[in-house]
Amino acid sequence: MSSFIAEPISRKKIRAMTSLIRKEFGLSDEKCFPVVHFFEFGLSQFDVDYNYEIASISEMPNDYGLTFPDENRIKIREDVYDRAIAGIGRDRFTIAHEIGHYIMHRPNLIALARNRKAEKVPAYKDPEWQANTFAGELLAPPNIIRGLTESEISSQCGVSFQCASIQLKSL
Ligand SMILES: [Zn+2]
Repeated sequence: MSSFIAEPISRKKIRAMTSLIRKEFGLSDEKCFPVVHFFEFGLSQFDVDYNYEIASISEMPNDYGLTFPDENRIKIREDVYDRAIAGIGRDRFTIAHEIGHYIMHRPNLIALARNRKAEKVPAYKDPEWQANTFAGELLAPPNIIRGLTESEISSQCGVSFQCASIQLKSL
């Protein structure tokens, strides 16, 4: 597991993964990705052992979300969950970030991840960068944001201005 975490994954490869996920669920052209629904129901289509938990603030005072690969579990703090349902970009991003950890930082879940050794990629070894990139690509992919302004991306995709700006620069 630890070697998988250190495995470099490029934005290009992450983009291919998130594009495949959207396609599998018939959401390729969906502007506002239903990330809470995906967290609750979609991930179990990839992994029957997947489970999630909504934790209280007192249980997780220092973390908005945590992923436990060995237990097939993502834990999201209740205030983050509630705000994500309300459509707040930062909290939708947090859930997408943990989904990124869940999918990328464990073996044998999707083919693109399994083939990771076959292709030479730049040295993006930081799992946090990888999870952030995954979240940005899942929520605001190129086919949807092309031609839009930062503020249009933010309101239509349900992401923060910061996320919209990074995605625009990465087109
Ligand atoms: Zn993280």
